Amino acid sequence: MQVSETPVLRDIVLIGGGHSHVGVLYMWAMNPLPGARLTLICTDTDTPYSGMLPGYIAGHYSFDDVHIDVRRLAEFAGARYYHEEVVGIDRAERKVLCRKRPPIPYDVLSINIGSTPKLGHVPGAEGHVVPVKPIRQFNQRWLGLLERVRNHAGTTTVAVVGAGAGGVEMALAMQYRLRRELAVLGRNPDELQMHLLTSGPHILPTHNAAVRRAFEGVLARRGVTLHVDAEVVQVAENLLQTGAGDRVQADEIVWVTQAGGAAWLAGTGLALDEGGFSRVRDTLQSETDPLVFATGDCASWIGRPLEKAGVFAVRMGRPLAENLRRSLLDQPLKPYRPQRRWLALISTGDKHAIASRGAFFTRGDWVWRWKDWIDRRFMQRFSQFPAMSDSPRKLSSEKIPLAPTEQTQAISALAMRCGGCGAKVGATVLSRALAQVHPIEREDVLIGLHAPDDAAVLRVPAGKALVHTVDFFRAFIDDPWVFGRIAANHALGDVFAMGAAAQSATAICTVPPGLESKVEDTLFQMMSGAVSVLNEAGCALVGGHTGEGRELALGFAVNGLIDASLAGVMTKGALRPGDVLILTKPIGTGTLFAAHAQLKARGRWIDAALDSMQISNRAAIECLVAQGARACTDLTGFGLLGHLVEMTKPSGVDAEIELDALPILAGAAETVAAGVLSSLQPANTRLRRALRNQEAALQHPNYPLLFDPQTAGGLLAGVPEANADACLTALHLLGYPHAARIGRVLPQSDAMEPIRLRL
Ligand SMILES: Cc1cc2nc3c(=O)[nH]c(=O)nc-3n(C[C@H](O)[C@H](O)[C@H](O)COP(=O)(O)OP(=O)(O)OC[C@H]3O[C@@H](n4cnc5c(N)ncnc54)[C@H](O)[C@@H]3O)c2cc1C
Repeated sequence: MQVSETPVLRDIVLIGGGHSHVGVLYMWAMNPLPGARLTLICTDTDTPYSGMLPGYIAGHYSFDDVHIDVRRLAEFAGARYYHEEVVGIDRAERKVLCRKRPPIPYDVLSINIGSTPKLGHVPGAEGHVVPVKPIRQFNQRWLGLLERVRNHAGTTTVAVVGAGAGGVEMALAMQYRLRRELAVLGRNPDELQMHLLTSGPHILPTHNAAVRRAFEGVLARRGVTLHVDAEVVQVAENLLQTGAGDRVQADEIVWVTQAGGAAWLAGTGLALDEGGFSRVRDTLQSETDPLVFATGDCASWIGRPLEKAGVFAVRMGRPLAENLRRSLLDQPLKPYRPQRRWLALISTGDKHAIASRGAFFTRGDWVWRWKDWIDRRFMQRFSQFPAMSDSPRKLSSEKIPLAPTEQTQAISALAMRCGGCGAKVGATVLSRALAQVHPIEREDVLIGLHAPDDAAVLRVPAGKALVHTVDFFRAFIDDPWVFGRIAANHALGDVFAMGAAAQSATAICTVPPGLESKVEDTLFQMMSGAVSVLNEAGCALVGGHTGEGRELALGFAVNGLIDASLAGVMTKGALRPGDVLILTKPIGTGTLFAAHAQLKARGRWIDAALDSMQISNRAAIECLVAQGARACTDLTGFGLLGHLVEMTKPSGVDAEIELDALPILAGAAETVAAGVLSSLQPANTRLRRALRNQEAALQHPNYPLLFDPQTAGGLLAGVPEANADACLTALHLLGYPHAARIGRVLPQSDAMEPIRLRL
């Protein structure tokens, strides 16, 4: 994440990582507007580029060739990325409503979410067809279909419904690929039969007659059965029925007909067309609300109907970026002028393509190579970024106009940043932010946030002892809600590692100064994330301190309760020879976030790491205790080796780690192999002196991960050998799918080094 010196004055929120928004992000990277913050909210970190999708289906491209990694792109652009599903907009409050997290405020909003399948009007379609839209989820459906066809004995019939460019390309690409798959399996490719159905008299109704004829010829030569004037009116299992009364049997039915607008758009009050798409003016602003823009398939241009094609979504990117900027600068917006004719390069699946533009037509293998060149060049912009030091990034001197009160707040925020700050956050901002978070109440919290005082007063229940711990760290991700969740989880980790139950927590945090409304929201988002985790853990937030600082940071002092007799307490010093070492979560957060900062990590790796960091250790400790574990610690900054040595030393034992058995987060092996390591790694690596056979292990790919610092890592515990298998099975069922047996505890030897690596 990049720390900005300019306070945030305005928020532009982008919903969806569609073709226009990726353009906006790229342009923003080159020419940011000081004081404006961009946030992308998207359900799919890997967003497909539609132009290359048929090539992917045909097997000419890999998954990564045809997907834009919007998390990485957002990082490059200095934008925030929220991996989330939007479910609505509260336009009165100017907030975006999300599936999992609190509403996100905006000053200007843009929607580029594509379209969703319209199946409801055809009885039986829902549940019996594979819809291509939303295009973002098509990959899973395609992989499922591929697997079913591979496993289907005898003839397989696939019917594609819809013969626009998407449907025709899809049918030909699928046929090409599936025939090859059958051949690879040693089966007869002719076992595949394809049908293409269209409601109109022609295929490709928006293209010229020469293009249509060419495709009709290709379909005939390739043995695809074409059904024209065949509107599908009913679907049953493996059966299509047309309006003319024809019936087509098919093992797989792929639906590539016109789609509609997302259902949630209907609840926004924005003007929609009959297809449920947002009606937009030539400035790309909603007809109803000038603060809301819409582009791509989800927009309906009032000027004239535009084809739902990626080419329009791409072209809208530049005017959208310009108009978002202008709307913050109070400048007149520029009209978007869609082209009347556009070049479509439509592939036939076998590295051959047909070009269509108005009345123009040409074809050839060279057209496919041309298309391939255009598409790859387009994708390179979003995957191969120039180093920002030698990039052509412009430093804009434009100033966002502010109201007088905002001006005062902005000047004072700037002064505080320059001075390093350290002031308390204003009482109003703090109380407004905290009023929206709802910590649980507990009987043993006598005075807490519900009746705030100078300090909290807690009761330690009879027979219980207090477990007390503190943790604090800077935000490593520009998402205050997720950061809050991880910070709370990290702090709770120590309490759970002791085998205690969490009781209460006090928070300490710093928030960068800025406009009051922005500071308030950051604080609210972060604390509501943290409180959601504390509440789940049964831990009451009872107080805290909030200051302004250069960076967002959060920590907690957490109290836990444990039996006063110390029965059930898990200490680091209770490992026993013969115990199996079990690690409940995969490692690799240090290298992954170092790589993320250098734009060397894939967004989906970061998604998976963040998900893992949000998994509580609470259920794991209960399981470990039930399986007879006595020694446990949570993995944090010292890395696996550092924390294991903290256990072997007081336990008076040695240990063996099986390097091949380490559970590793997706991508961590790649980033470590690329030499990307956390800044804490060198300090942790000093502990290599604890390794007996370090020299032999140096070349092992997992070796550096022994020293990788963890944030909100898993539990490392010694479990009696007899219970180890049952313990792992239980952990997997409890939601720790990567829990693994990583080694064993050995009796102490004469060797100076307590840890032996098994290679
Ligand atoms: C098989 C096939 C081939 C095609 N080939 C071409 C072609 O060669 N050329 C061409 O021009 N067009 C082609 N099209 C049409 C093209 O797919 C669409 O027109 C294009 O994808 C629309 O782009 P978009 O930017 O509007 O949205 P999309 O590309 O659909 O992107 C939508 C984005 O919004 C996100 N999103 C959706 N809902 C939410 C939500 N609720 N919250 C948060 N995020 C959300 C998604 O994750 C995604 O990132 C093809 C279509 C098909 C079916």
